[in-house]
Order: sequence, then structure tokens, then C-alpha cells
Amino acid sequence: MSAVALFGAGASLWPEYEKHLRQAIQAAAPDVQLVTEAAPETVDFIIYAPGSPLQDFSPYTKCKAVLNLWAGVERIVGNPTLTQPLCRMVDPGLTEGMVEYVTGHVLRHHLGMDRYILGAPGWNQIVPPLARERPVAVLGLGELGLACARALKGLNFAVEGWSRSEKAGLDIPAHHGEAGLEALLRRAEIVVTLLPRTAETENLLNATRLGWLPKGAALINPGRGPLIDDDALLAALDSGQVGHATLDVFRVEPLPEDHPFRHHPRVTVTPHIAADTRASSAARVIAENIRRGVAGEALLHQVDLRRGY
Ligand code: NAP
Repeated sequence: MSAVALFGAGASLWPEYEKHLRQAIQAAAPDVQLVTEAAPETVDFIIYAPGSPLQDFSPYTKCKAVLNLWAGVERIVGNPTLTQPLCRMVDPGLTEGMVEYVTGHVLRHHLGMDRYILGAPGWNQIVPPLARERPVAVLGLGELGLACARALKGLNFAVEGWSRSEKAGLDIPAHHGEAGLEALLRRAEIVVTLLPRTAETENLLNATRLGWLPKGAALINPGRGPLIDDDALLAALDSGQVGHATLDVFRVEPLPEDHPFRHHPRVTVTPHIAADTRASSAARVIAENIRRGVAGEALLHQVDLRRGY
């Protein structure tokens, strides 16, 4: 009997994903049926997204894996009904998008582009340093952080990274632990946060740690809103401790119209567009995991539910 993959990511995403998923599953696991409705006890795989109406996984008793279309898993990882393996999205298209977003915004701050775009008066010749002289910190050296760090290194930036675990032999200088974070932040003129939202990363950038930065440093957060203590950031922006914050993600999304970030002269708000999952490449990742699940092979990108990412 053929296996059943339920598209449980919601009706709004189905038109975007249907063709790509059908093609990819046909190529990787032709015996698998892709459906939008099924009796729970017949389902072998669930394709999921955070906005999905499907929130109770307990009736899916033979489900081999829940396959998330997003990289971030904070909205499903604590679901008490989830006993099936959970895989997150690692999509080459999403990674490329994030690299473009991060390099673009780092270059904006590095080159001081706003001075000229906004029309600086007079003939104020401020020549930026070379990228090799610009220390950049990337917090998070996972799929996205490492790809961004490598792209910045390719542009000659003096890039260093930070992660939970120690990483030996990486092509990017890597730090871990609180002492590693302090050392890194004390020299970082541009900071990029690409960490998941977990209990440990909540308010990581608080008043103390923002205070470690060189005065006027720029912050770029395409990770998750709760990584930053909003009030501490606003105070740091007002005092000039942080020169500019480019924020893509927020505690409440869409960011409310009356939120101070919306109107702050040194905040750039982008509406959670840093990097989207691309249906064509993501469908191949989903199909490969379905193939593996059917064949009894190890799944790709499985989330550690206790660690939270
Ligand atoms: P990932 O591969 O799981 O990497 C996460 C990185 O964060 C790892 O290097 C991990 O350290 C590090 N980390 C986790 N907890 C930490 C802690 N307590 N202290 C220090 N480092 C910690 O995730 P990813 O694919 O790179 O994605 C990162 C995040 O980007 C996602 O979780 C999501 O929130 C966000 N995102 C945003 C958008 C957007 O459009 N704005 C799009 C996609 C993703 P180890 O290497 O030691 O495990």
C-alpha cells in the first residue's frame, strides 16, 4: 500500500506548493500520495507550517515525520501532542535569500550609504574603512549564520561568529560561551543575529550585552524578535550606544503601527522578508525526507525537541 503525505500547512500555501511538491515527490518517492485531507490514522508524513490549522498531532498514530516548511520551529517545538520526529526546513533557496539580505544590509552600514542616499549637506568626505578593517559578528553559526559569515568573509570583512557549541577547525573564527560572546561583541562594529528563538536565547541582547559593543555599532536582526530586549535596544539607540538597528523580526508580527521601532530615526523595519522558503527548492527537501522515511533511512534536519531547535 502506498504511503500518504498530508499537506497540512494550510489552504493558503497549497497553490504555491502543489505543483512543486507533486513533481518532487513523483521524482523521489513515486509511490507516495500527496493529499490535502486524510483520516489521521492513514497519514505517514505531515507537511506543516506554523499557521497551519493542524495543531493536534496525537491522532496521527503512524506518522513517521512532521516536515516543517519554515526554518524556525519555535511555534511547534513545544506542542505537547507532538511525539513524531520533527524536521525543520533547510532550503538552499532560503539560505541564498538570507545571504543576500545580510550582505546587503551589512554593506549599507559599512559604506555609510544613508549619508548620501538621504543627501548629506556639504562636501563631507567620510571615506569608509576597507571591509578587512570592519569587525562583524555573526551570532549563530548554523545553516544561515555560517552561510552569511562565509559570504561576508568573501567580501573581506573581519567576520567572527558565535554559537552554543564549540566549533573547531571552522573557516570562520568561532566563539562560544559568555566570555566568547563578550570578547566578540566588544570589537564588533556590525552584529548580525541568526539564532533560533529558545528559552536560552530570549533577551540575549540585553542592556549589559548591548553595552559591550563599541559605541555606534549597527545591529541587524533577521533571526527572531525575542533575541533582543526591545526596551534595552531603544535606550541604546537613544544614547547612541547602538548607531542603527535593522530589524526584520519582532515579538508581535505584524509590528504594531504604534510600536516605537516604527518611528525611530535609527531603526529600519523590514516586514519579516529577510528570507522566505522557496517552494521549488523546498519541495525537493521535503520529498527527499519522505523518500528517506519510506526507506527507513535517517531523516535530514531533525529537530532536537528538548534543545528547542
Ligand atoms: P540552525 O542551523 O539551527 O542554527 C542555529 C545556530 O544558533 C547554531 O549555530 C546554534 O549553535 C546557535 N544557537 C542556538 N542556541 C544558542 C545559544 N543558546 N547560544 C549560542 N548559540 C546558539 O538555524 P538556521 O537555519 O541557521 O536559522 C536560524 C534562525 O533564523 C531560525 O531559527 C529562524 O528563527 C531565523 N530565520 C529567519 C528568517 C527570516 O526571514 N527572518 C528566515 C529563516 C530563518 P550550535 O551550532 O552550537 O548548535
